[in-house]
Amino acid sequence: MKKTPFIAALACGALLLACCGFFAYRCFSLNSRCQNLETEAFQLQENNSKLQEDNSKLDTELTDSTAQLKERESYVAGQKEYISELSEQIDSLTNGEDDGQEETDSASADDSDTDSSSSSDSYPNLYAEGCSPKDTEKIVYLTFDDGPSNLTPQVLDLLDRYNAKATFFVVCKNNEEYAEYLSEIVARGHTLALHSYSHNYHEIYASKDAFLSDYEKVYDWVVENTGYTPSLFRFPGGSNNGSSYVVNSIIDEMEERGFQYFDWNVSSGDGSELTTTSNIIDNICSNVGNVEHPVVLMHDGRGKNATLAALPSVLEYLSDNGYEFRSLDKSVETVHYR
Ligand SMILES: [Zn+2]
Repeated sequence: MKKTPFIAALACGALLLACCGFFAYRCFSLNSRCQNLETEAFQLQENNSKLQEDNSKLDTELTDSTAQLKERESYVAGQKEYISELSEQIDSLTNGEDDGQEETDSASADDSDTDSSSSSDSYPNLYAEGCSPKDTEKIVYLTFDDGPSNLTPQVLDLLDRYNAKATFFVVCKNNEEYAEYLSEIVARGHTLALHSYSHNYHEIYASKDAFLSDYEKVYDWVVENTGYTPSLFRFPGGSNNGSSYVVNSIIDEMEERGFQYFDWNVSSGDGSELTTTSNIIDNICSNVGNVEHPVVLMHDGRGKNATLAALPSVLEYLSDNGYEFRSLDKSVETVHYR
């Protein structure tokens, strides 16, 4: 009789212990599940923020690429326009030559005084006072962009040899070590003009203010190093680079400030890394005759050794063909793409 309550109590105790053990086990597994879920949630958050970061990077890259593409498209469009302009000029010159030939053919063989060639003047002294025979002058304006560099002194020496004056559109960034050549350009009678501080299309054509801010830096650099205040400039890539809206607003602003820009009507093609010395010579010599006052684009920036190598032949050819080498100034008729 005494054993029954004892067994019952023992059974109750065992049951209670089992229940406690079960609940403890459930609590433990729930807790560890909870911890696992928290870890997973943390990882998901991390992955999410990484994805957001990648997304914003891709967005920025896409925006940059789109802007660069637009810039390239407008540059190509400008170049196409320029090429078609040149083709028109060549056509009109070819027609002009044909007309002249026909006139000569129909003229009497004995009548040598009726030479229809526009390059010679049968009456060189027949000008009223104050009028010079401008139309028969053969002037070429050689221009050098992107310098100064280690090549500039050699370019200057070659120009001196032909008593040639030229125009240098300089860039500051990465050319600071050649600042001493700026004064040399002025001292030797050439025109020192501005091109850009950074020459970074994406930056300078972002807005009118971006252009002016860049321009001020190269302007200050030149003034500090030479005391000379330049008034001519050339747009990097030409005035048909960048968006029309931005470039037109820059032109208006710069003209108000008294700065005048020059594009070119003869390209040496030395902007391309693939060009050769003979290509440069050919591009210049075969095209100068197609325009009345050739403004020739060349480069004296670092690495333009093909241009330096071409320069003696170019100077020789132009000199032999009666050209006078002059530097640009504000009185020269501008060459503008816009
Ligand atoms: Zn340039």
